[in-house]
Amino acid sequence: MSTPENAPVVATTEIEFHKALDEVRERIAFAAERVGRDPQEIRLLPVSKTVPEERLRAAYAAGMIQLAENKVQEAESKAEAMADLNVHWAVIGPLQSNKTRAVAQFADEFQALDRIRIASRLDAHLKEYNRTLDVYVQVNASGEDTKSGLEPRQVEDFLEQLQEFDALNLRGLMTMAFHTDDETVVRENFSMLRDLRDDLRERRPELIGEGGLSMGMSNDYEIAIEEGATVIRVGTAIFGARDYSAK
Ligand SMILES: *Cc1c(COP(=O)(O)O)cnc(C)c1O
Repeated sequence: MSTPENAPVVATTEIEFHKALDEVRERIAFAAERVGRDPQEIRLLPVSKTVPEERLRAAYAAGMIQLAENKVQEAESKAEAMADLNVHWAVIGPLQSNKTRAVAQFADEFQALDRIRIASRLDAHLKEYNRTLDVYVQVNASGEDTKSGLEPRQVEDFLEQLQEFDALNLRGLMTMAFHTDDETVVRENFSMLRDLRDDLRERRPELIGEGGLSMGMSNDYEIAIEEGATVIRVGTAIFGARDYSAK
């Protein structure tokens, strides 16, 4: 039972967010160290879905200048409300055609690209607004059919088609691991994405660009780092459990 005495501290103030960040950064550093990587090459992307503006302003003050949302509408209204800050907004959830214009206007990054039609619309809108967008192509590494993303064997062809959209800056590949406590399975999902990237780098370097890997969330980011993640998307471990009832 949760009482005020044993309830976990949910960060609200700038100082509490500093603490939450320090804890995650320390675990990032340990994970990187285990495999001889430089922690500096791992970007921590805080996932702020369901977290209200007030707390996000404190998080921003504590240094979280990049924020990720999985729903366009929520991201857009937060971007509007916080337009006085210089937030780098990342959309990390699936995107419908009727939302591409909005994303082209406010987002700096889109991590769930898996349809050419969406890429084409984003590219056209971005050109209207004289903007560019960083993108990650989502791969269904787990084979879980509820998950969006391309089959690994479709990725090369998809990247070829992406080349014509020059308002889109391809930053790399993104995946979500199978939802399981079995670490072996999770690790395999991540290493599969890395192998896919490595193979493309070797055969088609012009397609994969810098070849970043966005993988790992609160439960599995240390495994992801050990397997080569360059971006981790962390929500709960920074903001606490999400409160869906508040909206
Ligand atoms: C919500 C979300 C995350 C973060 O999940 P946590 O388990 O809270 O860290 C990461 N990636 C995507 C695509 C998400 O929707």
